[in-house]
Amino acid sequence: MNQLFPIKFEIQATDGEARAGVLTTRHGVIETPVFMPVGTAGTVKGLRFEALESEDLDAKIILGNTYHLWLRPGIDVIKSAGGLHRFTSWDRAFLTDSGGFQVWSLGALRKISEEGTEFRSHVDGSLRFLSPEVSMEVQAALGSDIVMVFDECAPGEASHEETERSMNLTARWAKRSRIAFDQLQTERADTGRRESEGLSGAQALFGIVQGAGHRDLRRVSLEQTVDIGFDGYAIGGLSVGEEKSVMFDVIEEIVPKMPKHAPRYLMGVGTPEDLIEAVARGVDMFDCVLPTRNGRTGQAFTSRGKLNIKNAQWTNDSRPLDESCRCSVCRRHSRAYLRHLYTAGEMLASILLTHHNLAFFLDTMRGVRQSIRSGDFPTFRREFTGRLGANGE
Ligand SMILES: [Zn+2]
Repeated sequence: MNQLFPIKFEIQATDGEARAGVLTTRHGVIETPVFMPVGTAGTVKGLRFEALESEDLDAKIILGNTYHLWLRPGIDVIKSAGGLHRFTSWDRAFLTDSGGFQVWSLGALRKISEEGTEFRSHVDGSLRFLSPEVSMEVQAALGSDIVMVFDECAPGEASHEETERSMNLTARWAKRSRIAFDQLQTERADTGRRESEGLSGAQALFGIVQGAGHRDLRRVSLEQTVDIGFDGYAIGGLSVGEEKSVMFDVIEEIVPKMPKHAPRYLMGVGTPEDLIEAVARGVDMFDCVLPTRNGRTGQAFTSRGKLNIKNAQWTNDSRPLDESCRCSVCRRHSRAYLRHLYTAGEMLASILLTHHNLAFFLDTMRGVRQSIRSGDFPTFRREFTGRLGANGE
């Protein structure tokens, strides 16, 4: 009998380093390269699930944040609801991060030791402790389809020595994550377990490569991670304040050395042009808060670059946000109306801008996949980048 795995990943076309593939999870089939909207607290801020499932967006996978859901509403609430899928009523795929990055970004408010990280909850000020074992337990209770190992992130400008120490800690935590995760799967602690044809029904576990901007350490971290063995591999610790050229140097160095037959996930990146540049270097999966967060502060991403809806120049402009976008916001509403909503402090402004921004990101990835399949990715990349400066912002 063939061994069954939690996910299946099949690469169906390549164009240079760029890959178009199909990732099969127990909660649906996902075409890659894919952008995953961020749903921090069990919601993609401002959007109903009907919108995420609509033809406009058709998001196949979203992110959940272990740190936030663990602190509020807490694991008992989600467990008694039957897991995150049932709690939220989202029946497509969930990936959950480990909480490592959120705890790391608390800065001075946290204390890192070999055992894990101690910090004060931003919700009620209580002292909490997050470790590989706790993170795996929380993610099993959430029942996400893809679980991330608990890692430590070195700051973008960290010295070689500091980064090496942090990277080795990440490797030890990755091993502990793997052991705790495997144990939880045998105990059936995973609330999202679902029998589906050709899959094991269990959660998948992804490893994370760290090493800041030091390419030699990135190579070591990749070896350490692959030695432990995971269902997919992520690059963490980029887009945390380093120069963009450093980020692309690391991606160019590491991605081609990652296992060919597993999904490659670049965490927390980035703008539409970053995504396309990373796809060109062989990345399959992305998540980023930019389309949702910037939507709430009045910034639209369009095929002609960024557009700030606050600007007075749109006061009487009857054009849609993006004349080449076919989303329901662009089909219906003018810049003038959206600007009015925003300046009047209406919540609909955030909702509509978030909707359009996600439609633009997801549609861009659709275009990327098509162009890889038809062998036109270099042309797509050139034309996409060429149009971006047109708004002059
Ligand atoms: Zn639109």
